[in-house]
Amino acid sequence: MRFDDGAGLDTSEVQDLRGSDGGGVGGRVALGGGGVGLVGLLIYFLMAQFGGTSTAPHAADGVGLGDVSSGRQLDATTLAQKCRTGADANRDHDCAIVAIVNSIQDYWSGEFARSGQTYRTATTRFFNGGVRTGCGSATSDTGPFYCPADSHVYIDLSFFDELKSRFGAQGGLFTEAYVLSHEYGHHVQNLTGTSNRGTGSGPASGSVRLELQADCYAGVWANHATSTPAESGKPLVQDVTQDDIFRALDTASRIGDDYIQSRLGGGDVDSSSFTHGTSAQREKWFTTGFQTGQPARCNTFGTGNLG
Ligand SMILES: [Zn+2]
Repeated sequence: MRFDDGAGLDTSEVQDLRGSDGGGVGGRVALGGGGVGLVGLLIYFLMAQFGGTSTAPHAADGVGLGDVSSGRQLDATTLAQKCRTGADANRDHDCAIVAIVNSIQDYWSGEFARSGQTYRTATTRFFNGGVRTGCGSATSDTGPFYCPADSHVYIDLSFFDELKSRFGAQGGLFTEAYVLSHEYGHHVQNLTGTSNRGTGSGPASGSVRLELQADCYAGVWANHATSTPAESGKPLVQDVTQDDIFRALDTASRIGDDYIQSRLGGGDVDSSSFTHGTSAQREKWFTTGFQTGQPARCNTFGTGNLG
């Protein structure tokens, strides 16, 4: 997967909460490591109590408080500074994620407009360790997720390392594109009012249908990625190769309920607890979206045959 060198990137669609407290879970500092950050935080509280807040930032900057108090703005500036064009996305991983998010939302805003609807942009938030969201607190163990209550996608990018090390996936940038486009599929479901149908568990449950539809929507974006114009008028994504699609399907095959239960769980597969569908189903619905390019073909709620 390559990006058009000259295309502009819109970093406003990604917020970098790494290295800040991220509105973190009780102690993102403790979760994430950063001993210096913890010292900085303690010093900040001490200074705030005894010396007044006005002097605290200066006093603590040298031991990491800068990250804690102003990390959000600092990091946002960094993304905006380093991720300006497709050329940046071709050489920097963070910028590649920005480009992928841009492409996915370019596609869906066009698709919504074509059907007379309005697409609302959803921001992706990078975090480390833990994060507080409109859906409650979460840690990296949750994996990437979409929160309907605040319309953000949350992702600790170390998940992609885990996909390789723990799930045995091939990995690669298009794996990440698949995961992100799946999460944006959930955002589309939120906008179309489908989210609340994703209830229960079991092989034909609303939860499974919702997840398989998000996989299908991911495939739909993959179909259109190289033909979706960015603001410049030219597509941001220059190519999606057979190898890219192979990597998406490889990932889908490793995050199915049956695969996870048998390989990573106790070994027994209990379909009554399925919430995402089997590996074969996840591959099938991504493929359906990719081959047809039509969101309407992703009607997992209206079929008796989920695969
Ligand atoms: Zn999902």
